[in-house]
Amino acid sequence: TLNLKHIRQNPGLYEQNANDRNYAPLAKNGWRILDLHEKLVAQQRAAVELRQRNNALAKELKKPEEARVGLRSILLDEAKLLKGRLAKYEAEEKSAQEEMERLALELPNLSSVHTPSGSEPQILRYLNGDSPPSGKGSKSHVDIGKELDLLDFEASATTSGWGWYFLKNEAALLEQALIQYALSVAMKRGWKVMTPPSLVYSHIASACGFMPRDQNGETQIYNIATNETSAAAGTGLVLTGTAEIPFAGSQANKTINEVDLPLKVIGPSRCYRAEAGARGVDTKGLYRVHEFTKVEMFAWTAPPPTSEGGLDVHDDVRSESEIVFDEMVAIQEEILTSLGLHARVLEMPSTDLGASASRKIDIEAFFPSRTGIDNGYGEVTSASTCTDYQARRLNTKLKFERGEVKAGFVETVNGTALAVPRILAAVLENGWDERRGGVVVPRCLRKYMPEGLEYIG
Ligand code: AMP
Repeated sequence: TLNLKHIRQNPGLYEQNANDRNYAPLAKNGWRILDLHEKLVAQQRAAVELRQRNNALAKELKKPEEARVGLRSILLDEAKLLKGRLAKYEAEEKSAQEEMERLALELPNLSSVHTPSGSEPQILRYLNGDSPPSGKGSKSHVDIGKELDLLDFEASATTSGWGWYFLKNEAALLEQALIQYALSVAMKRGWKVMTPPSLVYSHIASACGFMPRDQNGETQIYNIATNETSAAAGTGLVLTGTAEIPFAGSQANKTINEVDLPLKVIGPSRCYRAEAGARGVDTKGLYRVHEFTKVEMFAWTAPPPTSEGGLDVHDDVRSESEIVFDEMVAIQEEILTSLGLHARVLEMPSTDLGASASRKIDIEAFFPSRTGIDNGYGEVTSASTCTDYQARRLNTKLKFERGEVKAGFVETVNGTALAVPRILAAVLENGWDERRGGVVVPRCLRKYMPEGLEYIG
């Protein structure tokens, strides 16, 4: 299901792409695939000759035997030799095919034309003003949470350790209000709600581009494989870091009819992140935690009519996945704008794309307590187009019903609608009213709070 032909026709492109995306150890994979393929073709040619000779021998051996006793034993010997060589060729062919698949699987997706090469994001626009609001103070959500009895990190340190938390009172209710509000914004536009499971097979996570360890060797995923056999077979279970994984996996080995596309779902889920490499930064508060609720958007879209190897090869017509991607970003912007948060929208650079994204837009909101880090901007949402990277690995196919029936793969797009802990932190810090000593609840959330609560104090 991988596009081996496109890879071996463009090994230089895949090399540059891997280098650009910080996957340098895999940069030569395309060339190795090309090498293996050339050897395979030579061997297949040789095998054709061997098979022809084998067939000729079989015919000879069927002829009447008189006066050819000596010859017959020579022919039999040759046939035996040929059989052995053919079996060896076939075994080698199978292992070369498997090796090519493995090398192709490791390669990251090709970056889109919108993606800046390197590690610097491009600022596209700002939300709620061109600069952070002034006079916000710098009180952190940790202090606000303690003062108003909303957050408890001491209890969670006792029960679970670093990176966990208890939400209390209005904070626990704000979580539910944020979920409801995010769902409502997307549902208005026709997105269907779906709540996914929190555990998935590890092979499903890998197919979505989530490996047990990332390219820096850091552990990303909590593995709860119960024995070695299931771990080796990919049938062990892992805790999902994002609903993107079960959503994408829900259409594995399925064929979607073109008329049903785009298929757009949104749902809340608990997300689990090992964050092993993150120890030492953001160790306090809600910014980086091991478990959180996120409302996630996921869509399956039709590929562009002339897509080649996951690349959109025409610039003039926008593909369906680009249209849905833009809609996701519009939903993110609507949510953040109406929550009253100042934020900046970033086109993410190639080193930030991970394995599966072809293009990625992150939005960073302003956190008054974080002005020492990135001027207070911290990532709150992310949206990615994955072209057919996930669909090929999950075998999610496409059926055209217009005229002739063609086969192909769908494309996938994913994006955060709302990740609770960071938004909750931003709402507490930006809504903090120093004079009154409490937090103003954003207007759009009030109808989801008991008795339309406007103020926590
Ligand atoms: P990602 O799926 O990694 O692109 O993350 C999507 C969103 O989830 C981010 O923009 C953050 O708002 C949030 N997020 C990711 N990791 C964490 C974490 N460890 N703790 C809290 N929020 C997180």
